[in-house]
Amino acid sequence: MFKRIPHVFIVVVVLMFALVAMSSFAFAQQRTFVTIATGGLAGVYYPLGGGMARIVSEQYPHLTVSVQSTGASVANVGLLDRGNVEFALIQNDIGYYAATGTEMFAGRAMPGLRGVAMLYPETIQIVTLAGSGIESVADLAGKRVAVGAAGSGTEANARQILAAHGLSYNDIRVDYLSFAEAASNIRDRNVDAAFLTAGFPTAAVTDLATSLNIRVIPVLDSAFSTLSADYPFYTQVTIPAGTYRNIDEDVQTVAVMAMLATHENVNADVVYQSTKAIFDNLATLASLHSAGGRISKEAAQDGQPLELHEGTARYFNE
Ligand code: GLU
Repeated sequence: MFKRIPHVFIVVVVLMFALVAMSSFAFAQQRTFVTIATGGLAGVYYPLGGGMARIVSEQYPHLTVSVQSTGASVANVGLLDRGNVEFALIQNDIGYYAATGTEMFAGRAMPGLRGVAMLYPETIQIVTLAGSGIESVADLAGKRVAVGAAGSGTEANARQILAAHGLSYNDIRVDYLSFAEAASNIRDRNVDAAFLTAGFPTAAVTDLATSLNIRVIPVLDSAFSTLSADYPFYTQVTIPAGTYRNIDEDVQTVAVMAMLATHENVNADVVYQSTKAIFDNLATLASLHSAGGRISKEAAQDGQPLELHEGTARYFNE
C-alpha cells in the first residue's frame, strides 16, 4: 500500500513537516520577553523606561519589552539579582553598594550586576510648603517626613542627608511614600516635607507646585563636605530658579546619577540590541520624555560604577 503513494508526495509532506518544525524552532529561539524595572508612576524612571521599551521593541520586533513599576533603585537591584527582570533603572550609588556588598547591602553582595550606561543627574529635592516654617534640614526634627518608597534609593539618600545634619529616623516621624503619595499627603497637610531623588522637574513636584506655594530646602556646603566624605557619589548641583512655580531663586543641593543596569546572565545579543536601539535613537527618547534629552552616548560611560556587560561593551567599542 505504501508503494501506491507517489514518492513526490512523501517528499512534499516530509518537507512541510521540516519547514513547520524549523520555523517554530526559529520563532521560539527569537521571541524574547524583556522587562525593565523602573520606579513609581510619578517619577522619571517609569515614563523614561516606557520610552526605552517602546524604542527597543520598535527597532527589534523579536524583543517584546515591557516596564515594571517598583519601589525603585534598592528594590530594582534585587530584581536583577534574582533574574526577575533583564534591565533596571537605578542610582549609581545604589548600584555600587549592591555590587560591592557595602552600606545597606553589607553581607549580600550582588557581583553579577553589570553596567549599561550612565544617564542623567538625579537631584535630591527636599520639598515642603512655603508656609510650613521649615527652612533647613535641621528644621525637619520632630516633623512628619516622607522619605521615599520602601526599596527606593531616595530613602537611602534621605537617611544619609539627615545623618549629615546630625539627625536620624528617631528624630523625625518617618513615612515611606512614593512620590505621588508624598505630594498628595503634603497637599493634605498630613506630611510636612518629602525627599525625592529624581531628575528635575519631577512630575509629582510640578503638580504640587501648580496648586500650592512650595519651598525646596537646600543642602549646603558644610553638609556636602560631611556627606561626600562618607558617600563619594554625591555631587553639588543647583536647581535653577523657575524650575517649579514659586521657586524664584536657585536652590543649592546634591545629586547622584541615574543609570541603566543589567545582569551578567542576560543574553549578550539582547543587551547589545537594547543598548544599540536606545543610544542610536536618543532624539526619539528625548521626544518621549525630557530626561532623554540629558542622555548622551559620549558621557554614557563617565563614572560607570559597575563592570560593563559584554553586550554593552560590544556596542560602545564598535
Ligand atoms: N531615584 C529614585 C529612587 O531610586 C527613583 C526616581 C524615579 O522614579 O524617577 O528612589
